[in-house]
Parts: sequence; structure tokens; C-alpha cells
Amino acid sequence: MWTQRVRVSRHLNAASYFYISRNVEIKSSAAIHACQSGRSRYIRCMDDLHDYGETYDALSACRICADRFAATATRHRPRPVTWFRPGARVLIASQAPGMRAHKAERPFTDPSGVRLRSWMNLGEDVFYDQSKIAIVPMAFCFPGYDPKGSDLPPPPVCARTWRDRVLRLFPDVAVTLLIGGYSQEWHLGKGKVTERVLGWRDHAPSVFPLPHPSWRNNAWIARNPWFEADLIPALRARLSEVL
Ligand code: SF4
Repeated sequence: MWTQRVRVSRHLNAASYFYISRNVEIKSSAAIHACQSGRSRYIRCMDDLHDYGETYDALSACRICADRFAATATRHRPRPVTWFRPGARVLIASQAPGMRAHKAERPFTDPSGVRLRSWMNLGEDVFYDQSKIAIVPMAFCFPGYDPKGSDLPPPPVCARTWRDRVLRLFPDVAVTLLIGGYSQEWHLGKGKVTERVLGWRDHAPSVFPLPHPSWRNNAWIARNPWFEADLIPALRARLSEVL
């Protein structure tokens, strides 16, 4: 019997390896959990998982920015925060982990996450379900602080190195949230955040450009009431269709 042994990243937790044979028998609860897209798609899912395992392991080991981070005030080491699995239908294209996410090794574990989940009308159970939602930032590591205490921009080398490779794992994404200017520029080209968000109907329902949910944008949100009155209900309606 033809059998392929596929290494699964430790991120899947329950098993390091599983086996797939021509009768589509899968001997791992982790693999079954990861392959939630239907029995007829198991073979493709196996390919996805193979790519996923390699990408996840290589990304987790990435230390490209070690010197850059060592030169910041926090002198931290690279710690890529990875939060994605094949099969996710919603992609959150975000900026970079903050210090809290860096420490927790989980994205949006801060007030920005509370606001983003409110915009999406989701609890943590769904928001952090990687089989449903992939969180793929422009940089996977906390970039450090600038002299004013704001987060530094995501190092461009991260998107150059990883973004295409990671996004290839999600061919069936139905909704993409573009959080802030860096991801919007990468996905949509140059432009201003306010104009892009104001023109959200040009991209919906597959793409929703959003401001960063940081408290630093409280004034922006107050100045643009149409954002929470029009865009957010449309986003919530779309997410309820997909999730
Ligand atoms: S930010 Fe990206 S490129 Fe830099 S060390 Fe982290 S994973 Fe690697």
C-alpha cells in the first residue's frame, strides 16, 4: 500500500507525524483537526500540511533580525509569533506583534485585540481558532520601540522573506482584513489609510481595509463615525456568512 509519512509541525501539538495512505486513512487526531475542509480534499490538505510544516518550522527558527533587535532599547531576541494553519477562511493581515504578544507568543493579546474582536463581533474562542482565522502580520516579531515609546515599523525584510510563502498556504481565504497602512500598502499598493478605509466598498466583501485598532487611533475613529456605523456592520455580516 502506498503510504506517505508527513511531518507535522509541533505547532499542531498532538502528534509529530501522521500517515496517509491511498484509502485516505489518517491516523492522527491532529491531522484530522487540521484537515477540516472535507474528506474529498484530504489529499490536497496533505500537500498543504507538508508545506505548512516546512514553512512553520523555518519561520519559527528565523533569526534574520537578531542584530536589528539587539540594537533596540529592549535588546530582545527574535521570537516569531505564528498563528495560522491551512484551511483558514479569514485572513487578518496585521502589522507586527506588540510587546505583550511577544511575551505571550500569541497575537493581539492586548487592548488592540479587544477592539479588533469587538469590530469582528467574535469571542476569543473563534478569534484564536486557527482552523478558521489566520493572523499573518507584515513582520512576525516584535520590532522594538522608537524613542517616543511607539512600536517601530515592521522590518521590511520579513515580508520580503516570508509573506508570499505563508500566504500561499491560504488559497481559499474568503475575507481578508487589512489592518493598518503597512499591510494595505503591501496588498493594495501605495495610498492613505483614511482614503482606503473610506473606499472600503471598492474591496468588500472579500477585503476590508481597517485602521489599526490601537488606542492611538481613538481620535481617528471619533472623527470618522461612518467607520463604525457603516463598515463595521458590513464586516460583521460578512464574517458571520464565512465563519
Ligand atoms: S521579524 Fe521576520 S524576518 Fe525578522 S527575525 Fe522575525 S520572522 Fe525573521
